[in-house]
Amino acid sequence: MDKGKILVVEDDRAVGNLIMTALQTGEYECRLAGTGGEAILEAAAYNPDVIILDLGLPDMDGIQVIDKVRGWSEMPIVIVSARGDDTDKVAGLDAGADDYLTKPFSVEELLARIRVALRRRRSESTDPMEQAGVYRNGDMAIHYLSGRVFLKGQEIHLTPMEYRLLCLLAQNTGRVLTHNYLLREAWGDSQAGDTPALRVYMATLRKKIERVPSQPKYIQTHVGIGYRMIRQEVSPGASERT
Ligand code: CA
Repeated sequence: MDKGKILVVEDDRAVGNLIMTALQTGEYECRLAGTGGEAILEAAAYNPDVIILDLGLPDMDGIQVIDKVRGWSEMPIVIVSARGDDTDKVAGLDAGADDYLTKPFSVEELLARIRVALRRRRSESTDPMEQAGVYRNGDMAIHYLSGRVFLKGQEIHLTPMEYRLLCLLAQNTGRVLTHNYLLREAWGDSQAGDTPALRVYMATLRKKIERVPSQPKYIQTHVGIGYRMIRQEVSPGASERT
């Protein structure tokens, strides 16, 4: 089975080779680019399923690579940045990256992020339910046409803002959405809302959709960065949709 093609963008040879070895062991097809220029060329020529992108490159900023690639493709991009550098991560996510890894990271972490990114890549526009205007994730369903939300078949009532936030997260399942992005998209203007207000809406939304709000399984918090909708695994025995 074709597990997927990964483009690794990393100028540090040793780190690059380490990632390549991990991916090959995981039976992924992969290619290494050492500069931003090479990365943009390979993104087009190799057409990877996921890009692992180091932000510190010799010829340009990794953000510029994201900008270029997003000009023509929605392929998942996972950025790699140094520990503690949240502004870098936020800038990368705002430019359109999906997710981030903090250096140093383990092989398990890397492979887990790739699986999430590949799942997003593959579920995109191929889900027949979603094409019919219904989003399903675990026990939750959103009927976009009627604007109704169900949990285990029971309708739950959301305020317009909670509904908007839930839809944004659902439509970007697997992606980390920054505070800025959510404020801009949900309020229509990033000046209209603020992060504390967003936090309050997220808390009330969670109380309605999470069974244990303190241990959320749908909406993951990324402290100082944003939120992500997690795709729930299909439970054993549930009918598998393909
Ligand atoms: Ca680097």
